[in-house]
Amino acid sequence: MSDKGHSTKYEFKAEVKKLLDILVHSLYTSREIFLRELISNSSDALDKLRFESNRGTEIRDNDLPMEIKIEFDEKNKILTVADTGIGMTRDEVIANIGTIAKSGTEEFIKLVAETKADANNIIGKFGVGFYSVFMVGKEVIIQTCSFNKNEPAIEWRSDGLGDYEISELEEKIKRGTRIQIHLKDDAAEYAEKWKLEQTIKKHSNFISFPIYIGKEKINTIAAIWREPKSSITKEQYKEFYKFLSFDNEEPLDTIHKTVDAPIQFNALLFIPAKSYEFFWMDRENYGLDLYVRRVLIQHKNKDLLPEYLSFVKGVVDSEDLPLNISRETLQENVVFTKIASSVTTTILTHLLDKAKNDKEGFEKFWKEHSRIFKLGYSDFINHDKYTELIRFNSSTCKDKNELISLAEYVSRMDEDQKEIFYLSGPNRDSILDDPHLEIFKKKGLEVLFMYDPIDEFIVSSIRKYKEYDFKSVLSADLKKLEKFKDSHEETKKFDELSRDDEKHFSSLLSKMKLILGNRVVDVRESKRLVDSAACLVSENDEISAAMQKIMKMANQNVDEQKRIMEVNQDNALTRNLLKVYKTNADDEYIKQVTEQLYETSLLQEGNLDDPHALVRRLNQFLEDSSEWYCKVKNIS
Ligand code: ADP
Repeated sequence: MSDKGHSTKYEFKAEVKKLLDILVHSLYTSREIFLRELISNSSDALDKLRFESNRGTEIRDNDLPMEIKIEFDEKNKILTVADTGIGMTRDEVIANIGTIAKSGTEEFIKLVAETKADANNIIGKFGVGFYSVFMVGKEVIIQTCSFNKNEPAIEWRSDGLGDYEISELEEKIKRGTRIQIHLKDDAAEYAEKWKLEQTIKKHSNFISFPIYIGKEKINTIAAIWREPKSSITKEQYKEFYKFLSFDNEEPLDTIHKTVDAPIQFNALLFIPAKSYEFFWMDRENYGLDLYVRRVLIQHKNKDLLPEYLSFVKGVVDSEDLPLNISRETLQENVVFTKIASSVTTTILTHLLDKAKNDKEGFEKFWKEHSRIFKLGYSDFINHDKYTELIRFNSSTCKDKNELISLAEYVSRMDEDQKEIFYLSGPNRDSILDDPHLEIFKKKGLEVLFMYDPIDEFIVSSIRKYKEYDFKSVLSADLKKLEKFKDSHEETKKFDELSRDDEKHFSSLLSKMKLILGNRVVDVRESKRLVDSAACLVSENDEISAAMQKIMKMANQNVDEQKRIMEVNQDNALTRNLLKVYKTNADDEYIKQVTEQLYETSLLQEGNLDDPHALVRRLNQFLEDSSEWYCKVKNIS
């Protein structure tokens, strides 16, 4: 249908209206990024054109130079951004400009609308796209002509309020897209040269097509990743990083690498100083820009980086890939996969160097990026490097912030120790209070502390570090542990039990088993407890209580674990209980204490579903003890 001269009205989709509303009403300080967004769209359009051209597609106005032109009319407050890129057909204008294609933009809306995040603070980190033009424009007119010779030129206009109009252009225009912006009064400075120049230099300096204001080229275009390291200043690296990441902070690390054989490529990679604030969002939004001989083939290619290194930003450029390679077949290209694995090795090697030579810097890296980095447990090819890089807090550390490597752990191990011990818990204090740890303290054996649910997945997946197996404290073999020398002499608090009492103790344990019924498989004497009266343990090598909880949360079926209750003989409560038992084996007090010990152990490991019985019993104990207290103190 031709509607030359006639215009048709369309309404914006609901999500576009929402975005426009946010952009128009809440943003002043970061409004300059609208220019970055328009120039980046122009640059994409030029990239797409070059791609078609390399594929041999027939192209309208083939002799036009590939460039971006900025024009301004200070008097009438009009700014124009024009490119000679791929252009748009009528259908494309409707599909691309009427709706929101990009997932990041939707996330942005959600974030601002739902969490009331300050849009001003976060907008710079997002590519919010074309609509940001309405932060400065009261009316915007797009004239566009597709590279496809059969398509007519189209005009789109809107005031960004609720609808837009589209018509077919009567006059002829050249291939590409011109965006004319009638500026709001308070945005008039965007029709001034100094402001435009400053904004382009700040946000768009590394666009790989020339950007002109009049006859003057504004951007310095440099594929700095292809220059020798020695010729690039720190400032240039920083500037390029900012351009690439929209991050205002300096990167933590810059990795610039040139490889010539067996495959040629250049990589310029950055590790951001801060993890992206919105972790869940960056997951979708990662990747390295892939160039072939300085030509951008794909923005944010996800196959150049494994997910666990997705915090890395940067570009990769190779001479050895064909220019017309399609994005779909990249993954099957052997040269490409070799480059990708070399990029991973480069990053891991850099991190290993950092861990060795810049401990403090490495800790910063770990603090910011370990949440993602830990996912590397599934990279079996780089298993050795990964295991050298992971860090844990441990019983030897002086506080919860100190980190150790597995190499450090092993270097401190007892010479007879064959296993690396670990224990999970919500935080350091609660692990330190865990009765299971007592024997490890007594023997002076170091234990890794795991606060993050993924930590147990890591060790169960990597299985070994060097020749040492990982072993949960909960299922460690006590016979082996007892062979280790005590780290310090314990003063015995209790006399050995007499032969007779040993027998009574053993039948007390049977009584306790009777009371707990099939909630436990056994009640036995503990060799691991030093101070506490009782704890629950699992049979050897079963999954830990912490892991069970995680699996339950993930809706995984877990067989209920058969638990064993262990009772410490050398404990005041146990000794008193034994006295009671000897006097009356069926005393109700034994039942109450047994129940209480069992439920407290469950509580401690976070597995007590219903605390009301425990609380009731506890209150009864308090009441009773208050009476005894008064009696002992002669208080009436
Ligand atoms: P994004 O660029 O992230 O996809 P935008 O809202 O900025 O989001 O743009 C939407 C789409 O409109 C682009 O993907 C592109 O297809 C099209 N577009 C925008 N500007 C241009 C342009 N200058 N030339 C050709 N197409 C464009």
